[in-house]
Amino acid sequence: MPANIIDGKAIAAEIREQVKQAVIKRTEHGMAAPGLAVILVGESPASQVYVRKKREACAEAGVLSKAFDLPDNTSESDLLNLIKQLNDDNEIDGILVQLPLPEHIDSTTVLEAIHPDKDVDGFHPYNIGRLAQRMPSLRPCTPHGVIHMLDSIGEKYKGRHAVIVGASNIVGRPMGLELLLAGATVTTCHRFTDDLAAHVARADILVVAVGKPGIVKGEWVKPGATVIDVGINRTAEGKLTGDVDFEAAAEKAAFITPVPGGVGPMTVAMLLRNTLQAADNHNSNS
Ligand code: NAD
Repeated sequence: MPANIIDGKAIAAEIREQVKQAVIKRTEHGMAAPGLAVILVGESPASQVYVRKKREACAEAGVLSKAFDLPDNTSESDLLNLIKQLNDDNEIDGILVQLPLPEHIDSTTVLEAIHPDKDVDGFHPYNIGRLAQRMPSLRPCTPHGVIHMLDSIGEKYKGRHAVIVGASNIVGRPMGLELLLAGATVTTCHRFTDDLAAHVARADILVVAVGKPGIVKGEWVKPGATVIDVGINRTAEGKLTGDVDFEAAAEKAAFITPVPGGVGPMTVAMLLRNTLQAADNHNSNS
């Protein structure tokens, strides 16, 4: 029987609406709307699309987004100075630096310069450390969005085996921490893993975040598994596609996410939620 599709667009729309209502409540109580600084360095078309989507989502939810579009030749020290100013700016609750940065800028240095309380992407070592120690604060958007999708289908986690394919700092690793926190037993696979098929075949929950179309074959999927495809790849014809062989995997899985319309919209929704959370924390601490 073909799998049920997990509709990321619909779940994300609900979260965006919740943020919108919470922002209205804040302003009714005389508080400022949350403010998000969105920094884009350079002119990568893909990054421009992502940043535009984030700014549009902010506008729709009543979050004030401030655009900082910087030229490709911006120096690392100029970028660090801007981040310092924004760290000190009371009207800014969240700071987002769109990745990847140009090669002459060290992204680790830049991400660590963002104050952890304004780190709405959840990439700062402080926030990753909080998640690792089971005291999450601002959580990385994509993995947290995946948890929301799993919750939406009634996933119980405990006693279930989650297999993550991909171990990057922004998706695979924090995804492992999230699933561990939720109570699943976690295996993380990466480029040096032998026999990927055997690991995938043992997954009750499979999360794939590699960036290689079709790296996970449908026939590897365990019958009844939940398959979350984080990958976003563009085919030669310009179509978006995930990392999982969708048609064949949907024949075996109980639940599966599409690409597009799966994890992608969740990431933007969780960014809005984090910005609201950062603003609420800011108000309760001041
Ligand atoms: P990355 O390149 O930083 O990491 C890829 C990971 O895949 C690495 O850990 C690597 O070890 C692993 N890998 C590579 N080849 C492998 C193989 N043969 N077998 C097993 N593992 C292998 O990528 P990333 O930033 O984590 O992004 C991964 C994908 O997710 C990309 O397609 C990206 O566009 C997408 N993405 C989507 C969203 C979203 O909102 N849906 C957000 C972030 C990233």
